[in-house]
Amino acid sequence: MREITGAEFDNEVLNGGKVILDFFSTECPPCEALASKFEDLSRLYGSDIKFLKIFRQGNRELAEKLGVKSSPTLLFFNNGQEVSTRLTGGIKKSDIINNLDSMLPADKVKEIKSLIKPSVSEFDVIILGAGPGGLTAGLYLCQSKINTVLIDIALPGGHVATTHEVSNYPGFIEPQAGYMLSHSMSEQTKLCGTIYKVAVDITRVDLEKKEVIIDEYETVKAKRIIIATGTTPNLTGAPGEKELKGKGISYCATCDAKYYNDKEVIVIGGGNSAVEESEYITRFVNKLTIVHQFDKLTANKQAQDRVFKNPKINILFENEPRAFIKEGDKIVTEVENVKTKERRKLLSDGVFIFIGMKPNIDLFRDKLELDSWGFIKTDEDMRTSVQGVYAVGDVISKKYRQITTAVADGTIAAMAIAKELD
Ligand SMILES: Cc1cc2nc3c(=O)[nH]c(=O)nc-3n(C[C@H](O)[C@H](O)[C@H](O)COP(=O)(O)OP(=O)(O)OC[C@H]3O[C@@H](n4cnc5c(N)ncnc54)[C@H](O)[C@@H]3O)c2cc1C
Repeated sequence: MREITGAEFDNEVLNGGKVILDFFSTECPPCEALASKFEDLSRLYGSDIKFLKIFRQGNRELAEKLGVKSSPTLLFFNNGQEVSTRLTGGIKKSDIINNLDSMLPADKVKEIKSLIKPSVSEFDVIILGAGPGGLTAGLYLCQSKINTVLIDIALPGGHVATTHEVSNYPGFIEPQAGYMLSHSMSEQTKLCGTIYKVAVDITRVDLEKKEVIIDEYETVKAKRIIIATGTTPNLTGAPGEKELKGKGISYCATCDAKYYNDKEVIVIGGGNSAVEESEYITRFVNKLTIVHQFDKLTANKQAQDRVFKNPKINILFENEPRAFIKEGDKIVTEVENVKTKERRKLLSDGVFIFIGMKPNIDLFRDKLELDSWGFIKTDEDMRTSVQGVYAVGDVISKKYRQITTAVADGTIAAMAIAKELD
């Protein structure tokens, strides 16, 4: 594996047989997450496929010529021709392997796979998810001298790492940049001695056996498992939403409503959280329009009554967002009437989307007792319905999902486990 410059591209890539080329940038968390996967795979596939890296900021002209618009981007070449699909963003190891395998004959792939030596490691506790809940559990367990491994599909930090500013985490006078707060949490836990296996693919989780298989061949075993995998906000799926997340589109009123003092916002949704959060947002804004797909709100009656009486709130029933477009400092929300199909454009300073969060439990959904929204039920010590399995943070069934509450859950689970293993 080596780094090349734009000047070497023709020689190394176009005349270079089979090549995988990584356009990376600095200060790019997904690039850092990719680096260890790239290095691992170069050891396996390196004698058949050339592994090259190129610094995007330093080679902008080539990046533009090749249409590389985000970092990291992986390109695959065979005898000068680009092959396979480009991979970009939070790249999974299994997707890279699929592309590499498709460039080689089947017997070669078999030979390479035979070189992979499955490994097994044993710990006292496996924590799945390195957001505030998992990191805090890791810290407390480590300080109790309990051998703990933190496993995350991304880099540590969870939602906090991508939150612009956090002003309600105690102990800081000034608002903290989310990535700095999560970095400090992660370093504290890491320095204590907790083992990190991050930016990995989770192949399988067996809660009963307390086994997690990562990157297909690495088995991690423990006496206890803590699930701290958090949630993913439901998206409307309308064009522009992903691009404007954090740039005018928000999924958290407690976090962002205060930045809209005397402004005008749109709220998408009509259930309890949309209605309750709308009330909260009107402490700050001048005007708020709820856009709801049905002809009635689905929130509880009391919350609805309060919203109908609130002079700052308008409700646009039977409309759904179809696109979000940034225009200067404003956001244009294009909505469509679900009956008449008539479209109109709503101009606002920001958009809040509350159409539910989904817990990240796909890998172990069947084994656990869940509430009717699919969140994991726990007791007061954070024990789940599966013996020896705990859950903390946003993934559990609870009323308030904040950094402080996730941190508190992580503390409780770790202390309960420390007592059990003592
Ligand atoms: C945009 C936004 C802004 C916010 N701002 C604030 C704020 O200002 N103040 C505040 O108190 N709260 C805020 N919150 C809420 C807060 O971020 C969460 O309550 C908190 O992060 C929950 O922590 P957690 O550890 O439970 O989960 P998360 O932070 O969601 O972390 C979960 C971790 O699990 C990992 N993971 C997911 N699936 C798997 C898997 N299968 N295996 C292994 N790992 C997995 C993820 O990669 C992630 O690192 C905000 C939330 C959002 C979305």
